[in-house]
Amino acid sequence: MDVKRIFCIGRNYAGHIKELGNTPDEAFVVFMKPPSCVVPVGMPLTLPRDKGSVHHEAELVVLLTGGGADIAEEAALSHVSHLTLGLDLTLRDLQNRLKGKGNPWELCKAFDHAAPLGEWKPYHGHNLQDLEFTCQVNGELRQHGHTRDMLFPVARQIHILSRTWALRDGDVIYTGTPAGVGPLLPGDRVSLQSAEIGHFEWNCV
Ligand code: ZN
Repeated sequence: MDVKRIFCIGRNYAGHIKELGNTPDEAFVVFMKPPSCVVPVGMPLTLPRDKGSVHHEAELVVLLTGGGADIAEEAALSHVSHLTLGLDLTLRDLQNRLKGKGNPWELCKAFDHAAPLGEWKPYHGHNLQDLEFTCQVNGELRQHGHTRDMLFPVARQIHILSRTWALRDGDVIYTGTPAGVGPLLPGDRVSLQSAEIGHFEWNCV
């Protein structure tokens, strides 16, 4: 399935907001990555060099179908066709500098290989706010999230995004990361797992 646009939701789990020293507020944080960032399962995950720390952010990812503008929250989940897990890779040191200057985040979020993406699993209407997932690096548990902890549930994300962008077939949403983000280094093996969705791994180079 071709990915059209990648929307990413920031600051969507209280535990992650706290670990980065941000304060929770009502704001909806969204940014985009070009589809050229995608790294499918089985491809080496080439990390940027000489740009400071590269952090893993494990996230539930949804694929949209039959898009549209101004989608009501109540109808939003009928636009979800598939699920998977992905990594919103982040150049954290650079992000902190960009935040300090009030500059956009493309340099720290939208670089080549910044969107490892698992294999799609068809969505059959199970509760998207009742999914558990983990991120392990070299077998060590780094992140253990549950989607009930999202501040903006998936249906509300679709509703809000559709008020700014008419959504389209092939649009993808990275739905935010729970606590436990941390660095990846060349040689690391990073794996994402969810009983309901699957198990996906990448070797970092
Ligand atoms: Zn993220």
